[in-house]
Amino acid sequence: MLVPLPVLSGAPERTVDPAQVPEDFGLTYDPARAATEVLTDGFGRRHTYLRISLIEHCNLRCRYCMPEEGLTWTPPEHLLTDEEIIRLARLFVAQGVTKIRLTGGEPLLRKGIEHIVAKLARLPGLKTIAMTTNGLLLAKKLDRLKAAGLTQLNISLDTLRPDRFEILTRRKGLAQVLEAIDLALAHGYRPLKVNCVVLRGFNDDELLDFAAWTKDRPVEVRFIEFMPFDGNGWSAGQLVSAAEMRARIEAHYSLKPLRVDPNGTARLFQIPGHQGWLGFIASMTEPFCEGCNRLRITADGSLKVCLFGQAEVSLRDALRQGATDAELLALISAAIGRKHARHAGMHHLAQRKNRPMITIGG
Ligand code: SAM
Ligand code: SF4
Repeated sequence: MLVPLPVLSGAPERTVDPAQVPEDFGLTYDPARAATEVLTDGFGRRHTYLRISLIEHCNLRCRYCMPEEGLTWTPPEHLLTDEEIIRLARLFVAQGVTKIRLTGGEPLLRKGIEHIVAKLARLPGLKTIAMTTNGLLLAKKLDRLKAAGLTQLNISLDTLRPDRFEILTRRKGLAQVLEAIDLALAHGYRPLKVNCVVLRGFNDDELLDFAAWTKDRPVEVRFIEFMPFDGNGWSAGQLVSAAEMRARIEAHYSLKPLRVDPNGTARLFQIPGHQGWLGFIASMTEPFCEGCNRLRITADGSLKVCLFGQAEVSLRDALRQGATDAELLALISAAIGRKHARHAGMHHLAQRKNRPMITIGG
């Protein structure tokens, strides 16, 4: 039986090294604003959403995610164990996280993922347990995951054409992904989000096909701008802006705006008469950093307060050195206190080092 942790009243003292004051990009940075909550940063953003990567490995090799030359995988003993994941999740939830997303690499490759979900489901205060998956192994595992308490699913799908799927992911599997989407719908997952990274010259000519695909399926197709990470060959030329995607669809369909979650990343629109709808995620051209409520823990246990930031704090090392809960919270609080107001912009990001996406967890 898990006992709820007390919520700390008053964040562990947060000292800011002048050399590490976050870039504010003109917004007001005030460390005192964060004095009452561990998960609130100096710009007043409360972090209630944690993404945990369960694994670095994957059964696909998507061009925009996995470096072509491959990767040196982290040795298994350096990855977080199930117990370490649950201990960290429990700490974050006790401080106010209400949503956890399991990701990777491919999270369904993690042995015993259903046990992790079941343990998360018992954390008092956690409302949503979501997962982002490529869907290939979903048919085998969905019954058990649902019974364990998985509440939300995102399935990635960048093309509706089998030959293209193989070019984009360097593997076969489109039929399995489409089956996984039908299965998730049959299991009642709503909204079922379908993540589609749009690359000029690869799949941008399928925007209208995806729009038509929402006619008879209650899915949210989320068109995502191509983001730069190490080894993914990003170029501005391959990026299709969300504005352009929308304009290309609006040339054929009328798009009715839908209400948007203030912390959400997608701007949502529906084609009248369609069961599903479309989302546009403009992380590069219209960043939504002001409303950011997300934190990430990589499979090797590093806390990343920003997807695009190089800063990382190894919670795994602290755990393995015997840190108490209070010491872990002090580390987490300090890292959140150093979170910048915004990311540096796509052209700078493309020049900077960051991990490959497959080892961060999207
Ligand atoms: N393997 C799972 C999957 O593909 O759904 C989960 C991990 S994957 C890293 C999470 C999400 O990140 C996927 O929807 C993927 O399309 C997205 N992603 C990966 N690299 C990206 C990039 N360079 N730009 C935009 N989205 C990216
Ligand atoms: Fe694997 Fe997901 Fe990355 Fe594709 S996007 S290589 S499925 S982790």
